[in-house]
Amino acid sequence: MNPAFCQTVGLTDDMLLGKNVRFIYPGADLTDIQNTLADSTVWQNELEYRAPNGTSFWFHTNITQNGDNFIWVQMDVTAQKEESFRQINNEKKLQSILDHIPAYVFSKNRKGEYTYVNHMLAALHALKSDEVLGKTDYDLFPFQAAESFEKNDRTVFEQHKTVRALEDGGRDEYGIERCYLSVKCPMENEQGEVDELLGMSIDISEQQRLEKALWASQEKLNSILDNMKARVYIKDTDLRYTYANEELCQILNMDRTSITGKNDFDLFEPETAVGFRTTDQEALKTKQKISRMETSVDTQTRTKSYYWSVKVPLLTAEGDVHSILGISTDVTEQKRLEQKLQANERQLTTILDNMKAHVYIKDTSYTYTYVNADMCEYLGKTFDEIVGKTDAEIFGESVAERFHQSDTQVFNYRENCTSIEKSRHYRTGKSCYFLSIKAPLINDVGNAHALIGISTDVTEQQRMERELRKMASTDVLTGANNRRHFLELCEKEMDRAKRYGHNLSLIMLDVDHFKHINDTYGHATGDEAIRSMTKLCRDSLRNSDVLGRIGGEEFAILLPETDLIGAWQIAQRIRQNTEDFAFDTGQGKIDGFTASFGLTGLLEKDQNPDDLLKRADIALYDAKTQGRNRVCEKID
Ligand code: GH3
Ligand code: MG
Ligand code: MG
Repeated sequence: MNPAFCQTVGLTDDMLLGKNVRFIYPGADLTDIQNTLADSTVWQNELEYRAPNGTSFWFHTNITQNGDNFIWVQMDVTAQKEESFRQINNEKKLQSILDHIPAYVFSKNRKGEYTYVNHMLAALHALKSDEVLGKTDYDLFPFQAAESFEKNDRTVFEQHKTVRALEDGGRDEYGIERCYLSVKCPMENEQGEVDELLGMSIDISEQQRLEKALWASQEKLNSILDNMKARVYIKDTDLRYTYANEELCQILNMDRTSITGKNDFDLFEPETAVGFRTTDQEALKTKQKISRMETSVDTQTRTKSYYWSVKVPLLTAEGDVHSILGISTDVTEQKRLEQKLQANERQLTTILDNMKAHVYIKDTSYTYTYVNADMCEYLGKTFDEIVGKTDAEIFGESVAERFHQSDTQVFNYRENCTSIEKSRHYRTGKSCYFLSIKAPLINDVGNAHALIGISTDVTEQQRMERELRKMASTDVLTGANNRRHFLELCEKEMDRAKRYGHNLSLIMLDVDHFKHINDTYGHATGDEAIRSMTKLCRDSLRNSDVLGRIGGEEFAILLPETDLIGAWQIAQRIRQNTEDFAFDTGQGKIDGFTASFGLTGLLEKDQNPDDLLKRADIALYDAKTQGRNRVCEKID
């Protein structure tokens, strides 16, 4: 070996001489060399020598046979080899980049035919890269898309300039609109002519779609915010406005940009701003949503406005507050109505609680939802002890059932119901009468959801009415029926007797020489005598018999289901009792206190009480004329 070889590989003669070639080139294919040289005179190729320190050397090797020897002529091509490796490496790298880049990379010639496509573009068409070569966009894309691509390609070729453009890719096989962001640049050949273009396209359909959706939702949000009848605003941590919706702009009579950067003290009266700031600072500090009533005062008119404000701290990913979002709704009108309502309610409660009547509201399940003070007092219970309870719980099952009859009527027919209800006072146990008026409470949709009841204690009126009715029908002096009422009863009894074919008799009696009693003992004693006469009659009568004072000292007695004989006996008994009765005037006994009696019975022809009375009167007259203290009759 020559010194150049030794020098290059860093080995000495002693180390090499006598060694097999394998020692130097362990990877060399010696069989190939032998086979080649058996047929030919020369073998040439590149051999790698790996130095003990790991460095590689490449030798272009030329081996020729010379007798028994082989002459090796080697040229160090390590530098060239490394360059070529680098190039291959670079190309591989580039290829790998191109095949993995999330973009379509391609080159096309002037005819629009693809001369290169990366994996991704080939995969888009479900083809292998070399299957795409030679095809044009018209073979691969929808017509409309191919046209738009071609337009840009033409610009590159004709004007020799790089085109950056959004390209419409048409709809893909799934019907989704495709859109590409493409860069196409001219590629010059050695002659400086542009015969190819290099392109790269990114599918931005999804971004476009998201952007459009985002835009649309932002538009929507803005439109909602600007049409809200509430103030919506965002403030930064220095409590300066960064956003204000249309409503706030209008209230402040400022445009959005003028509000931006200002704080509440710049925009509102100090009195108002202080309140706003307190809430904001609390939201900043606590990082919690704060909802509360805020007020603003108009310094000129001194009118107060009320806002229901919700302040939400907006947090960064690290959990720090970067802004406060506020929504304030003007509730002044509600507040005013509420106050008015409360005043009305107070007024109404005062009225109801001072009314001398029970007022209550019951729902459809007969549960009390309201009772006034008077009702509480009557029942001896508190408001809370009654409200929420049913009639059954308060009054017991049987009373409740009675109440429910009219309640149901009110609910079912949605009309008022008036009745007299009887109940017992919880403390005195006395029977009380109530004039009860129940009216349905109708809701918006026309259903009776509750009823209001007003019960007035009419016990006293009832008593007075009974008294009056009694007074109207009875004689004050004797308590017997008066003439008018006696005639009424007489008419009823006549009807009944006629209908059932019963007997009916009538006795008429008149005290004898009454004027004499009056004259002798005075009017008061006369009255006393009339009362005694009443008692004498009553003592001989049954409950069903009817006694009437029809004149001064003149009485009539109606005897239902009594024939003339029976009536005669009764008349005689009263006459005898009167005669026997020793009437004490206080100034001694009246001598001969007697009465005369006329009697008759009901006849078929009788139309009205007068017909009966007339006949009895005739009989009475007979008794008087025949000497008094006797009973006479007129039977037809
Ligand atoms: P006769 O036997 O005919 O019936 O004689 P008499 O005196 O009873 O006559 P008459 O029945 O005609 O007189 C009734 C008198 O009774 C007339 C009137 O002064 C008197 N009188 C009527 N009403 C009352 C009364 O309420 N109280 C008193 N004390 N006297 C009355
Ligand atoms: Mg008389
Ligand atoms: Mg008389």
